[in-house]
Amino acid sequence: MKNLLHTKIIATIGPASNTVEKITELINAGVRSFRVNSSHGTPESHLQEIQNVRRAAQDLNIYIPIILDLQGPKIRAGILREPMNLKEGQVVILKPAKEQGNEDFIPVDYPELFKDLKPDDVILMDDGKIQMKITSTNAENIEAVVTDGGVLTSRKGINVPGVKLNVPSITQRDIDYIKFAVLNKVDYLALSFVRKKEDVLQVKEYCDIPVIAKIEKPEAVENLNEIMAVSDGIMVARGDLGIEISPQRVPIVQKHIIKEANSHKKEVITATQMLESMMHEPIPTRAEASDVANAIIDGTDAIMLSGETAVGEYPVEAVKIMRSIAENVEDSNLCQYNTFEPSDEDSQIIASAAIRMLEQTTISAIVAFTRSGFTARLISKAKPSVPVIAISDNKAVCDRLNLLWGVFPFYMEFGSGFNEEFLAKLDEFLINNTSLKKGDKVVITGGMPSMGLGTTNFVRIHQVQVQ
Ligand code: PEP
Repeated sequence: MKNLLHTKIIATIGPASNTVEKITELINAGVRSFRVNSSHGTPESHLQEIQNVRRAAQDLNIYIPIILDLQGPKIRAGILREPMNLKEGQVVILKPAKEQGNEDFIPVDYPELFKDLKPDDVILMDDGKIQMKITSTNAENIEAVVTDGGVLTSRKGINVPGVKLNVPSITQRDIDYIKFAVLNKVDYLALSFVRKKEDVLQVKEYCDIPVIAKIEKPEAVENLNEIMAVSDGIMVARGDLGIEISPQRVPIVQKHIIKEANSHKKEVITATQMLESMMHEPIPTRAEASDVANAIIDGTDAIMLSGETAVGEYPVEAVKIMRSIAENVEDSNLCQYNTFEPSDEDSQIIASAAIRMLEQTTISAIVAFTRSGFTARLISKAKPSVPVIAISDNKAVCDRLNLLWGVFPFYMEFGSGFNEEFLAKLDEFLINNTSLKKGDKVVITGGMPSMGLGTTNFVRIHQVQVQ
């Protein structure tokens, strides 16, 4: 069971990658999950992205989870008649308006902004490239002076660092996209601009799709524990995080978020600008290679590409490089393997026993029977040094499982229970579907006798036989 990458690579899909052929190439290069970003494109274009991923995955006979990223309460400039060349010292007017902006004002799509802001607050536009300072506000508009100029184009994002905004948790657009996600059986939802646990809970009122909370606001860092408790996963969304708390603080906050997610046993994804220069160059900078490696050494489960695969010139090369960096880390002694924590909870005790067995005898893989994904998730968070062959009798669970560190999902009917006949069937399945061979020893774990949901209650060592 060599050459299986434990760290999972997520690729954001976009114009540079949205064909079945390109998606197939990306999966062959190492992608194990795709992100569909609802902030760009239309429901029609997103549906086509989903269909293309499903088609490529089916042809390759692999389970590929799709993450739909909800825009959340992102504030944006409205449509401008033409790009505005904003110069340092220039006075500008911001107005809550649906009409097109012109040289007299910048329209903003959030009417309440004017209630939350006051003189001296700083407004950042276009990922912080343009900065302005508020000089006055009234019921109709905001006046600000440009402190860092640049060319502003339509629909660019607006951030107001340090200001607690009264924006809703999710917008009507998000609600429509949640319905779209349910209809199209999306595997995960990622929610942008989470500030508190209620934001995640509100998404959960509409669906039972697992939710990944994107941590990109200072309030989310403050409320990390409560957000983590209600979320299924966490994303270190370094793009907006870097605008909201400054790029200088991102590395420390990243390490903190990853550590907390691992101790809460939640999936953690590190995202944004991982191989940014590969948008236009076929090789990464040394600093980018170090960044990818360090995120894995920090303990991230997954690493994500954004513009590199959505609109970049070298999407497949970016994935190959990312994979190779991850392989180098996993082959080094810097990856923390076999981490188990003392626990008084039965499922955790069993999972820890499975992990401890890896240190005591030569084991080629852990075989986890997992109806809901619970057992595989528990084992994954202990970062086992061998692959986890997760066997589920539910294809939707198989799809979700491929996001988990070190987990390789397979579909199999469980039949009547765990007896000698079933073990013989399992051996045949393992020999036919994995690189395990006769004589290899595996640790088997799961819930017995019915392999019920949400319990892990047995662990045993088994030697693969041929009947
Ligand atoms: C981010 O801000 O880092 C992020 C992942 O979100 P998006 O790509 O939607 O901006």
